[in-house]
Amino acid sequence: MTEINHHITDDLLRQYADGRLAHPFAVVVAAHISICDECRTRLEVSDTVGGIVLEALDTVALHSDARARMLAALDAPVAQPPAVRASGIFPAPVMQALNGQPPRWRMLGGGIRQQILSADDTGSLRLLYIPQGCAVPEHTHGGLELTLVLQGSFSDVQGRFGRGDLETAHDDVEHQPIADAGQACICLAATDAPLKFFSFIPRLLQPLFRI
Ligand SMILES: [Zn+2]
Repeated sequence: MTEINHHITDDLLRQYADGRLAHPFAVVVAAHISICDECRTRLEVSDTVGGIVLEALDTVALHSDARARMLAALDAPVAQPPAVRASGIFPAPVMQALNGQPPRWRMLGGGIRQQILSADDTGSLRLLYIPQGCAVPEHTHGGLELTLVLQGSFSDVQGRFGRGDLETAHDDVEHQPIADAGQACICLAATDAPLKFFSFIPRLLQPLFRI
């Protein structure tokens, strides 16, 4: 199993466990958890602690109706895990976002390709293909950006990221990921606002490709 060095932050894991993460970020976190034993264990521990807190509520004088409804909600069947399976480098949550189909790449120039998986008010989710040695144009973003490496690796000011590594970048980070030599880097990236590129041509392309 590949060694993973960059994990989900405590804050993001808590938001994911509480179901408070917007769809694009939840998919990236779910994809990381599906290939990272360490974060899967952290999530299980966090769920267990949440259960203990609920049991402690027994000692609180809670309205009996409210308590019954809460317990009924806990007994309700949970959402079924995705029926779609992992395929090749793509974990199950990514295959589900792809509707079970292989990616349909669109060329962005310079050998870079992308497929937008979702884009709405909550943010956007995309797959990026960066040829080895190539850079994603320098950019900042309006808020949070999460990037999960699925193949190859890239490096930027925050370090080196290989398969399974998750980069968390906030809007104060101007970073320029460069795919390392070896093979093309394929990433799953979520942003909560359109990316702002600094170089001239990518900004012109932005409305066309929603990057
Ligand atoms: Zn992890």
